[in-house]
Formats: sequence, C-alpha cells, structure tokens
Amino acid sequence: MEPKLTSPSVVRGILDELGLRPLKRLGQHFLVDFNARERIVAALELQPGDRVLEIGPGLGALTQRLVELCDDVRAIEIDRALAAYLRDRFGARLQLHEGDALEADFRELLGPAGKLVGNLPYYISTALVVRILEAAPPLAVLMLQSEVALRLSAPPGSPERGALSVLREYAADIDSVTRVGAGLFYPPPQVGSQVIRLRAHAARTTSPWTAIRPVVQAAFGYRRKTLERALEEGLGVDRERGRTALLAADIDPKRRGETLSLGEFDRLAGALGAPASD
Ligand code: SAM
Repeated sequence: MEPKLTSPSVVRGILDELGLRPLKRLGQHFLVDFNARERIVAALELQPGDRVLEIGPGLGALTQRLVELCDDVRAIEIDRALAAYLRDRFGARLQLHEGDALEADFRELLGPAGKLVGNLPYYISTALVVRILEAAPPLAVLMLQSEVALRLSAPPGSPERGALSVLREYAADIDSVTRVGAGLFYPPPQVGSQVIRLRAHAARTTSPWTAIRPVVQAAFGYRRKTLERALEEGLGVDRERGRTALLAADIDPKRRGETLSLGEFDRLAGALGAPASD
C-alpha cells in the first residue's frame, strides 16, 4: 500500500520513521495536497509511452502518480536519505539519479522528447529554470515561488522584466496551471507558490542560445546602467564597439535592458557577432 502524502501528519510520520527533518538548506517543503498534485500531473499531458524527468522528488508525492501513468520515469534527488527511501519504495519503476540537478545533463536525461516536472527547490530555482530553458523539453511543468513565475511572464517595460523573461520568451510559451498556498506544504514555505507550464516553441530568433544568453544576462546584470555601459561591464565589450552594435541593431545606447523586446536582443546579439564560448 503506497502512503498517501496528502496531509502534514502523514509526511511528518514518514520523516520521523526515517529519522529525518525537512532540510531548509535543500529547500525541502513537501507537497501535501491531493488536488495540487493532480493538477500538476494532468498539466504534463502524459501518454503511457512518454519519458518524464522529475527534479527533486522528495518523498515521491508526484513520483507516485508519474509511475502509475507512464513507464519511463527518471528523477534527480540530491538528498542521500531521501534517495535511499525512493529506491526502496519505487524499485525498478523509477530510474533515480542521486546528485545535484544543477550539474545533471538534462539533454541526456530527457532524450529527444522527455517531459520535465518538478516542485523546484526555491534556493536554486532561477538557475534551474535557465538550465531547463536551455535544454528545451517539449513540455515542462514547474512549481516556483510566485515572484519567479511573475518574472518568467513579464513583458518589456514591466518592473518584473528580467533575464528570465527574455530567455523564457526565447525558448517557450508559458501558461499558468495553478496557485499553491503555503499551507499545502509541510513545512509551509515563507512565500506563495505558482505552478507554470512551459511549452517549447520553434526558433523565433536568428541568434542561437549561446549568443543571446550572455547579452541578455549582461543587460540585466547591470540593470541600473544604460545598455552601452552594461555591455562594457558585463561582457567586456569596449564602449565604442558596444555603441556601434547597438546603433546597427537600431537600439538607442542609452536605453536600459528591461525595455528591450526579444527581437531587439536578437538583433543586438547578431550585431555583436562573436558568440560566447559555451
Ligand atoms: N517533489 C517533492 C514534493 O513535491 O513534495 C519535494 C519538493 S521540495 C520543494 C524540493 C526537493 O528538491 C527536495 O526533495 C530536495 O531534497 C531536492 N533538492 C534540493 N536541492 C537539489 C538539487 N540541487 N538537486 C536535486 N534535488 C534537489
């Protein structure tokens, strides 16, 4: 009989039996709500033949449903004790990779069509989302802190606009799946949570990821500065070359990163030439 992870007392009981406490430093907040779990899994539109990769399975709240619905389920969990519990509980139904999701090769784990899901550990959610956008799975359903979800959808000119907004537009369309209140986790996080879905789309720009990402990150890394200064400080592009590229891309060098559209970043990356080395 599988444990029903739908109340704080059940989750607390399992952790007690394992001699564990939720680790703040690993962002451990376990989902204890049946409806939220069902919505997240439904948003993945799983077919039996699909491959799905879960980041941070924890005690298996989502994993349980995933293994019921499809045959190829993989997961990455950094916590050794939780990984041992998951191996015990799911056996051959789960291909578990014990380690840091920030170092995992998502492309390899996902294969050409794998879907991705995760109630992400919030202390590294931004870095994980950038890596997920780069790997571009056809569908990703992610629980994030509401503030990061907002940044992912922010249009040009809005105060929430950041590197994540532009990189998301580059890679995927976004829609909202559901909000999840802090009381639906054990222990409750300090912030509100939002589940979003990313659907990869065909390229809408001419610049590849490796060319556009450093330009976007430089523009927002120095967001109080004008673009010509941000390019100089963030990318080491000398002022004159930056200015020439901005003018060639038809962008006023005195503008700031948050006002630029994806199309303008694309032109700027093209005008700057030399893609980054990664
Ligand atoms: N999926 C479970 C749930 O919904 O109840 C747990 C979600 S909890 C918010 C985040 C999970 O990510 C924890 O199990 C934690 O141990 C794991 N984790 C934290 N940092 C990680 C990392 N760098 N790589 C892989 N997993 C990580």
